[in-house]
Amino acid sequence: MQAIVTADKKPLYPFGLPLAEMHIHISLALLPELFLRRIKQGRTTIKPEFLLKRDDRYYPTLSHHHAVYEQMRHITSTPSELAQVTQDYLERIAREGAIYAEISNSFRDPKNFEGQLDALEESIRCARHNTGIEARIVVTTLRGPDQNGVSGPDRAETAACYMAKHPREFVTGFGLVGDEGLDSFADYARAFAIAFHEAGLGLAPHVAEQFLHNAVDFLHTVPKEALNIKSDDHRRLRAGHATLIHTSTKLMDSFGMASVGIESLLSANNRINLPEETRKMRVGDVITSESGRSVTVDRPLQKYFKNVADHPLAHFRQRGLNVCLGSDNPLLQNTNIGKEYSLAVKAGLATVEDLLDLTANAIRFANVDNVTRLALMQKVELYRAQLSADKLPNQTAGGYRRSYTI
Ligand SMILES: [Zn+2]
Repeated sequence: MQAIVTADKKPLYPFGLPLAEMHIHISLALLPELFLRRIKQGRTTIKPEFLLKRDDRYYPTLSHHHAVYEQMRHITSTPSELAQVTQDYLERIAREGAIYAEISNSFRDPKNFEGQLDALEESIRCARHNTGIEARIVVTTLRGPDQNGVSGPDRAETAACYMAKHPREFVTGFGLVGDEGLDSFADYARAFAIAFHEAGLGLAPHVAEQFLHNAVDFLHTVPKEALNIKSDDHRRLRAGHATLIHTSTKLMDSFGMASVGIESLLSANNRINLPEETRKMRVGDVITSESGRSVTVDRPLQKYFKNVADHPLAHFRQRGLNVCLGSDNPLLQNTNIGKEYSLAVKAGLATVEDLLDLTANAIRFANVDNVTRLALMQKVELYRAQLSADKLPNQTAGGYRRSYTI
């Protein structure tokens, strides 16, 4: 008979390290027990084995990932369900050491949106009360035409205008999600301008997860005032994924020089394969965007699908890019932010100082007011002092202790 292995996987970082979650689509961040309840209620056709069969959470294409996402989309439907998922997730990661999270919620139907934001804001307040974790919301909008034929850029403008007219305490960022092959990144310039100038939001769109040509347009599409933002402005510009810029020295340098925060999403990149067109990229290829800008590939494509050790995270760090981490879709990709820090070790970040720098970058690039940023950074610096004195705490920054060491 096969022996039953009961030991948990040991985290590859010390308990108590301050963590930050900078990219998560919150509505499907259900803890396994809640997900099983939704299956029992007949709310999804996905089977419980999804949680156990390793290969079920690896995806040969982004379309496969989206198909599973669509099968699950309705398991978080009401504002109270959204609040439950959000509070559960925030409190769970706070117990693992997270001091900050920036969570995404998609703008779809304005009629339901206010109720969703009420739910999210209340869950953030409750999680903060219970654990000390801070969190903010990124409102996202989906690329490509919808079923009524409304284009992605038009819907993005509607979402940005909506946020300009309906500001919220915890909504501090604006993002763009979805299939990068459906339209041109450059067509979203107006939506980003409205979000930044009229709604007063930071920007955190997905880019260069699946196609490099989106990254060619990135710095020309966001408002120029968002690049190298002034020190007294609390808003930040980050790029969700940006993984493929590792194939171009020029793009990496220009993202670095413009002070763009890079959200590295290790599980997402490890578990969703790239499209064939991207996998075929070779050094010397010229990649041209729909707007006519181009870049020459001068570094080989790293092969990180099912091989996190080949993710460009360590290279980004060596080049001085401002990298932080996110878990993207924890349920679909079998992760959470604690696991992402362990994966960062597997991707080549060798020391606790390296991992702490990821959190320091996250706080530097968080869309929070500067008083909150200072308070969060003090937690990072306290840990740094304890680390250099070789006196690591036996509790998280929020004061959580546990009675065992795994
Ligand atoms: Zn994402």
